[in-house]
Amino acid sequence: MSHLFDVYPLYDIEPVKARGSYLWDRHGTKYTDLYGGHAVISVGHAHPYYVDMLTRQLNAISFYSNSVKIPLQEELAGKLGELSGYPDYKLFLCNSGAEANENALKLASFHNGRTKVVAFKKAFHGRTAGAVAATDNPSIVAPINYNKHVTFLPFNDVEAAENGISEEVSAVIVEGIQGVGGIHVCTDEFLQTLRRKCDETGAVLILDSVQCGYGRTGKFFSHQFSGIHPDLMTMAKGMGNGFPIGGVLISPKFKASYGLLGTTFGGNHLACAAGVAVLDIMKNENLMDNAARMGEYFMDGIRQIGGYRELRGRGLMIGIEYDFPVKDLRNKLLYEHKLFTGVAGANTLRLLPSLALGKEEADAFLEALEMEITALSK
Ligand code: PLP
Repeated sequence: MSHLFDVYPLYDIEPVKARGSYLWDRHGTKYTDLYGGHAVISVGHAHPYYVDMLTRQLNAISFYSNSVKIPLQEELAGKLGELSGYPDYKLFLCNSGAEANENALKLASFHNGRTKVVAFKKAFHGRTAGAVAATDNPSIVAPINYNKHVTFLPFNDVEAAENGISEEVSAVIVEGIQGVGGIHVCTDEFLQTLRRKCDETGAVLILDSVQCGYGRTGKFFSHQFSGIHPDLMTMAKGMGNGFPIGGVLISPKFKASYGLLGTTFGGNHLACAAGVAVLDIMKNENLMDNAARMGEYFMDGIRQIGGYRELRGRGLMIGIEYDFPVKDLRNKLLYEHKLFTGVAGANTLRLLPSLALGKEEADAFLEALEMEITALSK
């Protein structure tokens, strides 16, 4: 019998059902989900509107290629433009975050004819050749030299950005909030410097919003707190609430031409139905406001518990860094308190719950955390 290539350390838990912010395993045990499969579950598991829209689409047509009209793509682009505050940007659809970044880097290079990329220390942009090249994590970069064109500058370092972005640079790629790298928020000054340097040098500014986008921080994109407009924004994760879909929002200054970008699965009927359902739910249920409110509620609660080295994040993208590795703490939260959480690096607990998270689920986490942190300090 053939087996899976063993690249993931797995919890011995098999979820078989999920609703809202809850999961059940095959023994009927209920868990609260504060991680949403790396920020993917944006509107909650099995939201009835989402299920209905996908089911109806599945019964109508699930797939045809990008050689025919797919009005759902236009609907998705229109609703995304409206909700995100970028109505004049165009949308290119693909299947994942890495693919979105790959296409963004390619577009930048087509646009200005340059090859050099500036990325930032601790960045994570995905695992395709181009995206991994812009990722500062030696453990996932293969010896084949994908990143000979990439320079990594220190994150949030205004002076390094001033000096490191020249006329040779094709693209500057940055996460508004570094996710995998540990929930580090870009300062306003840093993002504004990147914007100005890109304007001065003709480099393209790409905001990788794969993890920090889609309403998670209380604004549609986290860079919107800093008042800048990127040239390209990449998205995935929360965009389909579990259905694989990614996209690039593209400033009007880029010219499209046939064949410039392409994909077999990108923008398929089912993915677009998922994407439209997510945006409808986000809008109808004011989920960005909820993310902002619940984020503050979490932060206040975590501050009261204390015991951490640093608390970082915005809205429902939260990192709690401790002076110790959080592996045991996470195991306790999972096995004893039935709470799914995430991690970034060894010492940072990462919370990325659904944007529809309620007080009850937040309280379950805060109570459990308080109990465990108190026990640790004894
Ligand atoms: N960019 C960021 C900021 C991410 O966090 C991730 C995934 O964690 C990616 C890109 C890659 O996305 P995907 O795994 O969908 O290719």
